[in-house]
Amino acid sequence: MGLAPSSPTLAVVGGGVVGSAIAWRAARAGWRTTLVDDGRAASGSQVAAGMLGVVGEARFGDDEAFALTAEASHRWAEAVEDLDAPDVVVARDTVLVGADRSDLAELTAVVDWSASHGAVVETVAGSDVRSRVPGLAGVRRGVLVPGEGAVDNRAVLAALSNACAEVGVRVCRHTVTELSALDADQVVVANGAWLPALVPSTPIRIEKGEVLRLRRPPTAPPPPTVVVRARWHGRPVYVVPRPDGVVVGATQYEVSDRHDTAPRAGGVGDLLRDVTDLMPGLVEYRLDEVGAGFRPLTPDGLPLVGRVDERTVVAAGHGRGGILLAPLTADIAVGILDDRPDERWSQTLDPGRFA
Ligand SMILES: Cc1cc2nc3c(=O)[nH]c(=O)nc-3n(C[C@H](O)[C@H](O)[C@H](O)COP(=O)(O)OP(=O)(O)OC[C@H]3O[C@@H](n4cnc5c(N)ncnc54)[C@H](O)[C@@H]3O)c2cc1C
Repeated sequence: MGLAPSSPTLAVVGGGVVGSAIAWRAARAGWRTTLVDDGRAASGSQVAAGMLGVVGEARFGDDEAFALTAEASHRWAEAVEDLDAPDVVVARDTVLVGADRSDLAELTAVVDWSASHGAVVETVAGSDVRSRVPGLAGVRRGVLVPGEGAVDNRAVLAALSNACAEVGVRVCRHTVTELSALDADQVVVANGAWLPALVPSTPIRIEKGEVLRLRRPPTAPPPPTVVVRARWHGRPVYVVPRPDGVVVGATQYEVSDRHDTAPRAGGVGDLLRDVTDLMPGLVEYRLDEVGAGFRPLTPDGLPLVGRVDERTVVAAGHGRGGILLAPLTADIAVGILDDRPDERWSQTLDPGRFA
């Protein structure tokens, strides 16, 4: 698609799911867009499981985060159509389970709170859980969350890359060290955990997470068709289907060193123990990949999306929900560039709110 040479120019720093979604939508809205990315190994978009978790990620009492994720989940349904990439969807429902009484009590508290905020959930007996998820260990009961599915994060990145190419986004592979060196009318900084290196005033901490990719050999039991999220003897573990196996995640602990990208043996051991207890048939799967990535966290758990000066918009700090939040973030960011800020979210997500 050709844009007039007089169209305004935009540089987007960061080609994860957030920056790619913004570049695509901005180019479609008429910005001559360049996307700059340097392919860091700990990019959350590469390692993520791709769950579109609203109830599964709900934090008891956090109304704003719940409203944001609920809206983001509706935007995903539109984005899949818009991208014309139905195959990125790998699951349409989620089943939540717990191993013991205390796991179930925690689960029930969050599920009841989510239901009181409009989430559709259904408590199901243990036998029903096992018929929906063959191969699951014995559980007394579970909770079905219809419509809370997952996408294949890497297929999403590929679909966004195609969509960007179709609307003429130029892609550059290098590290940006100074925003002032970018030749563009406007700049969006969407570089996830590394935002403070380019916009030092932003309060981003990092939470590291290990994740496993298991491949199914032909003789092994098939992967589940739903997302399975468990509280398992006090630890979270989840299994997310892929066409050729499952993604298993995830550990979570804060680190301060952005070079600390290697998976830790202890975290990987915990995940393997918990997941083969939860779904014993997975012992037959092949361990294809062990990865670790960074979740960029903000003090209130909500992302930073807004202007920091008249040339610069930031869109980062999406924590555990960047895949889910990407289409909504892109809409909000492009609205800011086009001087029509989103009425519902622009104040809540304003990067200056902690000043
Ligand atoms: C283990 C794990 C599991 C997760 N599971 C889920 C999930 O199931 N669902 C969900 O919604 N979210 C999940 N997340 C969170 C999600 O992955 C992140 O919130 C999301 O990836 C953030 O996307 P982003 O585009 O902002 O940042 P990133 O994906 O980190 O991308 C940032 C990009 O910017 C580039 N970059 C950085 N600095 C520069 C620079 N100076 N110059 C050029 N390029 C630069 C990097 O190379 C990188 O490609 C998970 C995260 C982890 C770690």
